[in-house]
Amino acid sequence: MRTLRTIVEVRAALADAPRPIGLVPTMGALHEGHLALLAQARGDCATVVMSLFVNPAQFAPGEDLAAYPRDEARDAALAREAGVDLLFAPGREELYPEGFDTRVVVGELSEPLEGACRGAAHFDGVATVVAKLLNIVAPAVAYFGQKDAQQALVIRRLVRDLDIPTVIEVCPTVREADGLARSSRNAYLTAAERRRAVGLSRALRSAAALIAGGERDGDAALAVARGELERHAIEPEYLALVDPETLAPVEHLDAPVLIAVAARVGRARLIDNLIATPGGA
Ligand code: AMP
Repeated sequence: MRTLRTIVEVRAALADAPRPIGLVPTMGALHEGHLALLAQARGDCATVVMSLFVNPAQFAPGEDLAAYPRDEARDAALAREAGVDLLFAPGREELYPEGFDTRVVVGELSEPLEGACRGAAHFDGVATVVAKLLNIVAPAVAYFGQKDAQQALVIRRLVRDLDIPTVIEVCPTVREADGLARSSRNAYLTAAERRRAVGLSRALRSAAALIAGGERDGDAALAVARGELERHAIEPEYLALVDPETLAPVEHLDAPVLIAVAARVGRARLIDNLIATPGGA
């Protein structure tokens, strides 16, 4: 595995690398969720590129940019074990040099849920850096996690609208044994918070089970989920039933629905989601 820091080096290294090229964008602090994306890329592609960049443009002032866990040596070792061919780990100046002044804005999909909580600039930051990475690496396929469901939709729309010739693969959420979605931010949890954090996935699962059992009333499903959050002393930033493609709010359940939740547990801000399918439809 080669570690490269500049765009020029990456383009040169990939010029005659075996095709297809697969890209897995990450912010590091690798966990099983990232490793699943890398395994999928390794299985599909002749050349696997992983990017490692904690993208300042997607953090709002006051968020955890400075505290975000960083350990490049550990990440590089895990990437190497996972069969990554090229690790692209640029510095901030490489991607955002002096005078950088362009933003990629994906419209309505950026606005609800994470966009409403973290500010519209969050997904502008995501879309801008992903557009850059897709231009730099020019992968046939790029891999993202369903854990960040809204991000995956924003990126699918970005490549569609800008005619970027990359297939976006969205891989299932990898969870701990008790259901907690793997996240780099789980590292912020104390032992007691870690026990409470399971409330997010329990809330999603309780609502999904009710919906699968035939419940058609969105409010009833949300009430069950809210009860589970309360049992774990979790106050959600949002808990919502939305259309899995458009993110429009859903009240009557007659098609698959995305149940999405965000909550602070201690100093970690955690998100999770599930797609629930109405039973008996
Ligand atoms: P991050 O490093 O947090 O920006 O995540 C990099 C990629 O890994 C994104 O596409 C995430 O959606 C994905 N990812 C993060 N956590 C998980 C998880 N638990 N399961 C699957 N994919 C994940």
